[in-house]
Order: sequence, then structure tokens, then C-alpha cells
Amino acid sequence: MFRQAKAALRKLRHIRFSGQQHTWRLKSTSARDRALQYKPGEQIHGFTVREVVAVPDLFLTAVKLTHDKTGARYLHAARDDSNNLFSVQFRTTPMDSTGVPHILEHTVLCGSEKYPCRDPFFKMLNRSLSTFMNAFTASDYTMYPFSTQNGKDFQNLLSVYLDAVFFPCLRELDFWQEGWRLENETPTDPSTPLVFKGVVFNEMKGAFSDNECVYAQHLQNKLYPDHTYSVVSGGEPLAIPDLTWEQLKQFHATHYHPSNARFFTYGDLPLEQHLKQIEEEALSRFDRIDPNTEVPSQSHWSSPREDHVTCSPDALAPDPAKQNTLCVSYLLGDITNTFEGFTLSLMSSLMISGPNSPFYKALIEPKIGTDFSSVVGYDGSTKEASFSIGLQGMAEADTERVKEIISQTIDDIIETGFEEERIEALLHKLEIQMKHQSTNFGLSLASYIASMWNHDGDPVELLQINESVARFRSALKENPRFLQEKVKHYFKENTHRLTLSMSTDEAYLEKQAKAEEEKLQKKIQALSDSDKKEIYEKGLELLSAQSQTQDVSCLPALKVSDIEPTIPLTPVQISTTGGVPVQYCEQPTNGLVYFRAMCSLNNLPQDLKLYVPLFCSVITKMGCGALDYRQQAQQMELRTGGMSVSTMVISDFEHLDMYEQGVLLSSSCLERNLPHMFQLWSDIFSSPHFDEERLRVLVMMSAQELANGISSSGHSYAMTHAGRHLTPAADLTEMFGGMEQVKFMKRIAEMTDLSQVIRTLSRIKKHLLNTDNMRCAVNATPQKMSDTAAQLESFLKEVAENKKERRPSRPNIVERPLDTVNPAGPSRKLISELNFHPCPMKTFFQLPFPVNFVSETIRTVPFSHEDYASLCVLARMMTAKFLHSEIREKGGAYGGGARMGGGLFSFYSYRDPNSVETLSAFRKGVDWAKSGRFTQQDIDEAKLSVFSAVDSPVAPADKGMGRFLNGVTDEMKQNHRERLFAVAHRNLVEAAERYLAVGQRTRGVAILGPENEALKKDPSWIVK
Ligand SMILES: [Zn+2]
Repeated sequence: MFRQAKAALRKLRHIRFSGQQHTWRLKSTSARDRALQYKPGEQIHGFTVREVVAVPDLFLTAVKLTHDKTGARYLHAARDDSNNLFSVQFRTTPMDSTGVPHILEHTVLCGSEKYPCRDPFFKMLNRSLSTFMNAFTASDYTMYPFSTQNGKDFQNLLSVYLDAVFFPCLRELDFWQEGWRLENETPTDPSTPLVFKGVVFNEMKGAFSDNECVYAQHLQNKLYPDHTYSVVSGGEPLAIPDLTWEQLKQFHATHYHPSNARFFTYGDLPLEQHLKQIEEEALSRFDRIDPNTEVPSQSHWSSPREDHVTCSPDALAPDPAKQNTLCVSYLLGDITNTFEGFTLSLMSSLMISGPNSPFYKALIEPKIGTDFSSVVGYDGSTKEASFSIGLQGMAEADTERVKEIISQTIDDIIETGFEEERIEALLHKLEIQMKHQSTNFGLSLASYIASMWNHDGDPVELLQINESVARFRSALKENPRFLQEKVKHYFKENTHRLTLSMSTDEAYLEKQAKAEEEKLQKKIQALSDSDKKEIYEKGLELLSAQSQTQDVSCLPALKVSDIEPTIPLTPVQISTTGGVPVQYCEQPTNGLVYFRAMCSLNNLPQDLKLYVPLFCSVITKMGCGALDYRQQAQQMELRTGGMSVSTMVISDFEHLDMYEQGVLLSSSCLERNLPHMFQLWSDIFSSPHFDEERLRVLVMMSAQELANGISSSGHSYAMTHAGRHLTPAADLTEMFGGMEQVKFMKRIAEMTDLSQVIRTLSRIKKHLLNTDNMRCAVNATPQKMSDTAAQLESFLKEVAENKKERRPSRPNIVERPLDTVNPAGPSRKLISELNFHPCPMKTFFQLPFPVNFVSETIRTVPFSHEDYASLCVLARMMTAKFLHSEIREKGGAYGGGARMGGGLFSFYSYRDPNSVETLSAFRKGVDWAKSGRFTQQDIDEAKLSVFSAVDSPVAPADKGMGRFLNGVTDEMKQNHRERLFAVAHRNLVEAAERYLAVGQRTRGVAILGPENEALKKDPSWIVK
């Protein structure tokens, strides 16, 4: 649930400004206008208004306040968006690597004064309709955000969040559970050896099994060696056991104080109400302190530095002989300087983004490495920003060459500067991002301002993006060498730069294990017999506390009756243009047009299928028609908001052995650019450039990306593989996106000759863009719809002219009408494999990770079946009421649970120290469900949690997509909704017996993890 420090950091680094939503809720006076009525100096519930600023480009009004008594800072962004957000962040600047801010982030959520039950945060997930709840530990702050569309829910969650951060219990038991502890391997057996346990301890071991994460951590620590950035805020696994409970409480007292807090609220709920509640429930109980948490500026080095680190070899690396990383990192200016930060971040994009950028040409194209280093470009998440450039997947022998290229490229940029068209393309991209409406705008804003605000920069200035754009344009106009001079200053003349290389060490994991063992022995040797006895007793105490049924009645909760009984309808219009079915959906898209086309794979020969994901990932990046790939990339940036192609496997809502297969084209653009966008699509499919050199670059990058993704999404890979023999759709899903695809891409990356691959991709192309087997969807404003339809028609005409010879349809095709009221109208064509035999299979993938990802998946029923709703509720209930406690709290895994989807019921665990034990936890979960030992409250909570997913907001760009892709109409959705409401105790017990009990349905099991003797010896397992 919680993101660990570094992942959060990396994630936050990637959160950039991501656009805005339009007015979704019509009101007589808008939230924006109401907020404009506040006057600086005005006092409201213990706060004083400091500044009121209209930010018309983002459709919001910013109100800045401070809390009189404590000095707490507050920013409210009033906007007519019902997805309201709250966040509180504290500046947390640790000076050691014990992970104290991270462990604190976990333990404050374990119970508080008003809500003393265990784990109120997780409990609230099931008592709320939140659209987002989480907590992050970054390098220098800890943030607690939530969002919800329901006003009462907002107050409930606010109350729980405030109490958690300001008045947590911080019990010793919580510290043991979440932080670290010594415990007998089997807690009930004092003769078993003592080992380290603890959620954060295991989480960080998992995090540092990811080489990208290891590298990013070292790079930051070494570039900023003087203060808080030189330590691991998430916790270095071997330093975590140095933290004491006392230190944890002390850190809380000094850092989680209103004087060190920044509050942010967003949305259409009234500000006064928030201020009143925050004052009454928290701030009124504090006086001002001097938190003394500022981060001093890093003193500048007088000469550049070099350093080297090691990591474990990656069995999935595209080329095992090339596993080195090298990158040069530059310390830049203070992030509180808004315009400088804006300029540097634009400049970074110009330097590294896309095939037209100088570093792409200089580093990626010569194929020295597989991709840029995992840390690349501008990073404004620290007090002083940094810029990094380098390669991963390279040979050690190329080290000097890469260093020279980097320095030469910087010289070249200073000499020649950037093309004007590229700067325009980048500013166009920014315009699109500001117009595009996302569903989590509040959260994007909170993340966008967090770092800068954390160091006392002005968040309102940061929101005024258009002012920065205008200033940027005039700076360029006044001085055409404006950017070149910046490059010279920040890169060429900058002596605070670090060259960090990383190579693999065969003995890396062994050394780590040895170091952990030594640390453990040192701790154990210091123990007396009575200490050991106490540890055993504490272990039992923890176990019994974890097993106790919790009284959660102290927690606020929404009721099932607070859920809207009906869904709002999304009207769409389905018609046929040039023989192609088109779905039109009118939406307030802010001047953007969203286009999708689903192209069936039904006529594609079987032997080409495995290549389809590769085809999708490269087809928009190869060049087309008169454009080489660089020009094509430039055109896409200048004219569109992005163009992509992806594989689709859609299981049927009625039959588990039927599914639709295809590739989905998606793109968006400003209305004026429609003809350009369609022209690009038609060139991409009629005359792509399949150049072998270009393909090799793209293959290396995607193989590297796939290999890197396994340690962060291992549970998805385990679930996908566990399901592969259960339905035909799941089998194809594994082929397109499972371990099979990862291994296939590794093979392709190892090939010296790609000519056969090129012939194959070329064959796939012929089968795809064809008016006989496609359907389209358009989301646009009502005013632009008819114009869009006309443009689409001429595009489709052109596609039809290029039509290839038609192959006879396969015999096992079933047609489903797109419009239920018009069964004779256009249809979707599904593959039917009614003779498919599901078969049980247990697979173990041995991988170089210290933790496991475990999944067991069961074939159940499709969406339209009457038991589907019960299985959805059951998955949520088992997760919250049983599996979470067994797998996370007792088992020490980072996460675990069950989910229902595509006719498959899947159990999973994430970063799990256990393997087969977790399989028995799944079984115990089924027994628990069968026994019916749960209450009506448990069922209601599970329903709330299901509905908060079902009712999560949908952006105008995506409205009607469920219907377009899956054929699920509003009527079917409403039906499902009513079934969810009706699920009763009896249905859940029956569903558990009928589907989940051993021997009832076919099931598959998959584990990804380290060497495992037990599994290797067991002949029922296939070891890969
Ligand atoms: Zn964590």
C-alpha cells in the first residue's frame, strides 16, 4: 500500500504537471468565484488569509493562509472539481539511515488517540468511498494525502488523518511490527533461531533488490554528501536495526508538529469547513515551536568527483556481458527559484527527450548501452535540483568513451543550441498537458508543489505556468543564446558534478546476506537468556495482538445507503462510417479530440502473435512515409498529444472461453490538428520504415524496461502466469504481457541479425489497419463532433483504398452487436474456444530477488454471471479481514490479498519473505470465508470498498471506453451494481464453497522468487 521511500521519490520525480479538469459539476456560484471573495488579513478559525490569487489557466483560485498560533502553512486550491483532496506534509530530514521517517510513516497509521484500534488507516479503506488514500516518504518530507467525491467522507477521513499524524499511539508493538524486531523464526517455537522481522525491514530489502533503485540511492547520497540527502530516508536494511522505539517517538515530537506542517486542500468543498475542523481537532492543542528542519545548501565542490558501486547481476539482462551503468550528475540551482527551475526542466527535455535530442543521438543511437541510466534528466525533488545523464546496460570497456561523448555533447549544444521547432514542440506539449483533464488533478497539484513548498518556495508562483512560459519566450527573444549560456554555466563550467559507475558483482547477494548474518549475530550475542525469553514472549504478544478481533466501532464510516443507487448515464452514438463502426461521445474535453481504433487480430496467423507487443511498442517510433523517425517524432510532438499502440485481450462478459483480441490505437490532438493526426496514422500503417539499426535500439530499450519492471510488478507477473492455463484469454494475456513475453524479448535482444524480425513485423502490419476489422471511438466537444466525423470519414476512405486482400474469417468467430437495441447493426467479433480445457499448473520462476511474489488463481465465472458480484465482494472482504493480517502483519510481506477480474479469482502476495507458507495462508482464507465467521459490518465495508473502485472518477477522454472496448453498456453496469447491493452473507459463503474450495474449480499457481529447495524437490512444480 505504502510506497517506500525511493520508489516514492522516483515516482514523484516522474509526476509532472499533468493537466486539468473541466467543470464537471454545475453550480450557481462556482468554488473559484467564492474563493475570490476572501481578503488578505481576514481571520477564519484561527487562520489568517495571506494571499488570494486567481489562476485562470488552471481554472482555480489559490488561497494562502497561515495558522496564527503555530505558524502552520496552508494552501487551498478552489476549483469546480468534486474529487476533493487533502494532504498534510511534514519536513522530515533524517541524519541517519535507520529509516526513521519511513518507519514513522507506517507506525502513525497504526492507531491514534481517538482511533486506538489497530491500523485505522487500512480499516478506513473499507469504510470510505475514497478515490485515493496513501502516505509517502520522500527524501526530505513525508506526505499524507487522500481524495474523495463525498463531503461526509471527506470529514471522516480528515478526522482520521489528523488524529493519526498529530496524536498517534506509537505503541512499542507497532514499532516491532512495522519497523524491525528480533523474533524466533517460528514465533511459537522458542527453539527456532532468532531472525530479523518487520514490515519496513522487508520492504527495504525488497526495494534494494532493484538495481535501478540501488543506483538512484547511491547517486543522490554521493552528490549531496553533507546533509540529509547523504542518508537513506527509507532505511538501509542493515541500519534499520539500529533504530530504537525512543528515537522514533522523539522524531515524531520534533517533526510532526504544526509548526513544521504544510496543509493543502483542493476541490469544490468550502474552505471554512476544512479550517474549522483542522483547528478544532488538531491545531488548537499546540503552541509554536522552532522545528529547525531546514536543509542547508550543499557546499559546492571545487573539482568534479568520481565514484563506483556494485550491484547483483540480472539474470534477465538483455546482454549479460553488458550490465554496467555510468552517469554524470550535476548539482543545479535552488528549486525555490521558480523561473530558473522551469527553464532548467525545459532545457533538460530538449537535451534528452525523444530521438531529436542531442543526447539521444549521441548516446542511444550508437547502441553503446540498452537505454539511458535509470536516473536521467532534471530532478527537482531535492532542495537544489540536479541533472543526470548516462547509460545503463553498457560494457565496462566503454566507460571512457561514454564520458567523452557526454562532455563532447555538452560542447556541441553550447556551440549550436536547440532548433526553434523543437522548442515550439515542447511548448505545444505543455499546452496539451494543461488542457488534458485528468481525474486526479488535486493529487498531481499536491505532488507538483510539494518539494518546492517544502523548502519555503512560493507554491502559488509555481502554479502560474503561463507566466513562466511568457517570461521564457521573452528571454529567448532578447537573447538567442539564452539556453546555450545556461548549458555553459550549469554543465560545462560546473565543478560540482559526480561521475558514478556501477558494475555487477557475482557475490553481491552473498555478501549482503553475510553482512545481515553478522549484524544478526552481533545483536544475538549481546542478549542474555532472559533477554531471549523476553523476545520470545514479545513475539507471542505480537502474534496474539495481531490475531485479536478488533473493535473498529470508534472509526467513522459511510453506510451502504450513502452510495448512489444508480450510475450516471454516458450517452454515446454508434454509427457506421465507410463500413467502420464508430462510437461518438460528446464530452467537455477542453478543445482536445481523443481518437481510438480497435483493430482485430482475428486474421493474424498464429505464428506472428508473439511479436505483436514488439510491433506495438515500435510502430509509432520507426519513421513513416516521407518522415524519418526523428521527423516523425517531431511531428507527433508538434501536432498531437501523443500516439500509441497497445495490445488488447478482452474476455467476454458471458463466456469464459470467448474473448476479443486486437491492438488499440490511441491518440489525441488539439482540434485544429486533426488532419495532421490522421495523416500520421495512415502513414504509420501504410509505409512504416522498418530499419534494422533503428529497430535494434528500440528492442534493447524495451527488453531492458521489461527486465527492470519485474521486481516492482512481480505480483502481476505471478498472477498472469498462474492464470495462463485457465482461460484462452488469460493464455493470450500471458503471451502478450507475462513472463513468456519477457523471455521472448530477451531472446530478440540477443539476436545478431534482426532481418527475420523485420519481415515478421512487416507481415503483422498488413493484417492490422483494415476497414473490415476495425472500429473507432471519438470523444470531443459537441461543437467539434461533426467536423471530427468528416475528418474521420476521409481517413477511413484512405484506409479502405489500401485494403489488402481479405482472408476468410476463422470458423470460431462469434459476433456481438455493438448496440444492443440494434442487433442487426455493427458488431464486435470474438474468438470462441468452447473446447478449451483449463488445466492446473504450478510454476516456479527462479529469479535473483531476495523476496517472493506468490499467486494462486482460480477459474470462476464471467461478468454477467449472477455470482460475479459475490466474488467481487468476497475478494475485498478476504483481503481486508483476513489476508492482509496473515500475509502482511504476520507474514512480513509488503502486501497481499485477492482480486476478481476477467473471470479469474486471484490471490497474490507482494515482496514476500515466504513462499509455500503464503499458499497455505490463501487456503486458510478460503476456510475462513467458508466458515461464515464474518459480520454484516464486514460485508458492508467490503461493498464500500468495491463501490469506491466502481465509482472512481472517469476523465472526459475516457468516458464510454468501457462500452467501446468491453461491450458493457450502462444497463449492464447498473445490473451489476444492483447485484453488488444485494450480496448477502449466505451468497458469500456459497461462493467460497462453490468456487474457491479445493477440488471445486481449476486453479493455477505461480511463484517468482529466489532459489527454493522445497519447490525444486517437489515434482508437482515446473521450475523455470
Ligand atoms: Zn513503506
